Amino acid sequence: MKCPKCDSKIPAISLIKITRWTDISCGQCKSKLNRNLNGQFWVMNILGSGVLPLLLILPFVFVNFFLALILTILFVIGFYFLDYKTTKLIISKRSGVE
Ligand SMILES: [Zn+2]
Repeated sequence: MKCPKCDSKIPAISLIKITRWTDISCGQCKSKLNRNLNGQFWVMNILGSGVLPLLLILPFVFVNFFLALILTILFVIGFYFLDYKTTKLIISKRSGVE
């Protein structure tokens, strides 16, 4: 993730803090940023919250519960970073500076 204004890197932890109603601030230029609700956002949401966990992890629950648990943790971490790498930030519409 990069700031769309000054191109500085935004730390991965900031992704958790972005919601529809809350923005994050760029560490460099203090711009209010939010994520672009584009195709990437919806695809990641649909895949990450249902389709992929069901396909990848559910079969293992019947084989080995512990293995399914490990896979779930790995999936969440991996998916978070995939989301982080592909998210495009935009200047928040609430910032008042357009
Ligand atoms: Zn910036």
